[in-house]
Amino acid sequence: MNALSPAWSSFWSEAREIDILDVAARLGCKLKKSGSDYLSSCPLGCASEDGFVVTPSKQIFLCRPSGASGDVVDMVCHVHGSTKTEALEFITGHNRPDRNQGETPEEQEAREQRRLEAQYRAVEIQAEREREREERLKRDEEAVAAILERALPFPDSYAERYMKEGRGVTLPKRMTRDLRFVLSLDYFGYPDAEAKKLEPLASLPAMVALIRNPAADIVGLHLTYLDPEIPRKWRPIGDSARNKPKKFRKVVEKLTGSMIRLGVITETLVIGEGIETTGAFFQMGLAPDDASFGVAMSLGNLCGGSTQTVEHRSKKDANGNPSRTMNGIPDPAKPGVILPEHVRSVILLGDGDSDQVTTRAALLTGARRYANEGRTASICMADPGADFNDMLKGWRG
Ligand SMILES: [Zn+2]
Repeated sequence: MNALSPAWSSFWSEAREIDILDVAARLGCKLKKSGSDYLSSCPLGCASEDGFVVTPSKQIFLCRPSGASGDVVDMVCHVHGSTKTEALEFITGHNRPDRNQGETPEEQEAREQRRLEAQYRAVEIQAEREREREERLKRDEEAVAAILERALPFPDSYAERYMKEGRGVTLPKRMTRDLRFVLSLDYFGYPDAEAKKLEPLASLPAMVALIRNPAADIVGLHLTYLDPEIPRKWRPIGDSARNKPKKFRKVVEKLTGSMIRLGVITETLVIGEGIETTGAFFQMGLAPDDASFGVAMSLGNLCGGSTQTVEHRSKKDANGNPSRTMNGIPDPAKPGVILPEHVRSVILLGDGDSDQVTTRAALLTGARRYANEGRTASICMADPGADFNDMLKGWRG
């Protein structure tokens, strides 16, 4: 490539001095901060949620689904499908150094028009997505309210029978304040492996647990669909790979930071992944007398995220590459469950029936996070190959 003329060099450096975040916003990105990154949907439409990542500290972007990445110029090229020169013009807001030579005023006008239209389209797409998001949240909020309206108290319900007879867990009333039961709830799932759309597959009884954020507001429901004949978890029909017996209905975009509270949270908190396993830990009498109980719903929410991941010693992913596990150092930007301030001591429950390296790395990350917050943190692992509910059943013979 020939050396750039001074005019071109300064055109390029002018563009690169403009902050990538500002340019991303002009492209129509709705940026949400996440650690040192900002996340958005892709204005071009590749990433519908937060797969479009802008890292201002490095002045780079990445559109995950499409794989497009690079600096501010590459970003504009990706979104507008333009040449680098056109991208430079968009970023700096003025014409390339040699543009006015040999270009008629009409041509200049037409080019400017194209640029404005591309910008306008990007804004339109983004606004449409925002509308869809708001509608979805409104629908979910109504669904949550409708379920709660029909819900019955947990004591003496079929959900209580499921916990007692199906799981061997008898929860005292003080632990079931946020648990409910609904007689019949439509289950939407995929009828078969090829199906693209959810369809009503069954009408089932369900155990309902309120999910609360750190301020104790209800942000969603955790639903466990039950077999209507036998007090056990429903065994999904249709595409069982995708249809799960547990589902969430939420009134917020992400449940991160929230949990299910099994009673009032005291200074000592035992926190596990599932209602059944956490309940079993209580039932076995393994918790301190003054303990309260919380359910994080997933290992990720129980432990939060780590600053980096490292290669798994032995496990491979679907493509044959080593799986990644957490490096054990908590990332303050990915907190997982956020505990009430008065919690002094945390006991994290680990399942012994999931991959041990992955589980332990996550629990270590979580325990360190709680310790960094000035609390005492300990980890309690179930026997290898079992979760606490399996242990409870073995315990009782
Ligand atoms: Zn994209």
